[in-house]
Amino acid sequence: MPLKSLPRRGLLFVLSSPSGAGKSTIARRLLEDDPALQMSVSATTRDMRAGERDGIDYHFVDLERFREMRAAGEFLEWAHVFGNRYGTPRAPVERMLDEGRDVLFDIDWQGAQQLYQQAGGDTVRVFILPPSVEELGRRLSSRGTDSAEVVAARMDRAASEISHWDGYEYVLINDDVDRCVAQVRAILQAERLKRSRQVGLIGFTRKLMASSPTPD
Ligand code: 5GP
Repeated sequence: MPLKSLPRRGLLFVLSSPSGAGKSTIARRLLEDDPALQMSVSATTRDMRAGERDGIDYHFVDLERFREMRAAGEFLEWAHVFGNRYGTPRAPVERMLDEGRDVLFDIDWQGAQQLYQQAGGDTVRVFILPPSVEELGRRLSSRGTDSAEVVAARMDRAASEISHWDGYEYVLINDDVDRCVAQVRAILQAERLKRSRQVGLIGFTRKLMASSPTPD
């Protein structure tokens, strides 16, 4: 068996941040050049924003459908965020992990906690901070798709989201998006190389031992 094809346990790679910290850009850049990484598309009851596509950015569902999915155990995790419900559909994640891929999640701290409770050490949680409160305020109001009340609510929510940074293995500051993307890639690469994930190594070492001549 060539070493480069050693099987490895898939990762659940979680990116969380207050909205406006640049997480979507980072997620997009990670996915662009890493075919082994695939995005988990959440279901949400919130309204679709301009430019969003159903089934790609989110699965947009009504409250009734969301409740049905929840009752049927279709979510790996779910939470109330900004007065709407968001949930991670279980089946696609299990399929991607079975195919040996790593799965990227853009979910909040409640979701990150629930994933960790279920998948333990297969979960890697990364929290992205904005460079400052002032910059966060600027980014949230320059987005232009939400009303002043929604922006103010998001600032409140950002403060509460940030207070949960200690539930993450890694915390980064996004003051330069290129540097931040490079740091997140480095974390992903290092996590992939952890001994505990190299399940194929066990079989490889056994074969190696069996084929080496026994000393006299
Ligand atoms: P937005 O509505 O701005 O796209 O997302 C609002 C927040 O909901 C973000 O912090 C995002 O990470 C979080 N979120 C998106 N999908 C999920 C999900 O499936 N589960 C949880 N727990 N949070 C989610």
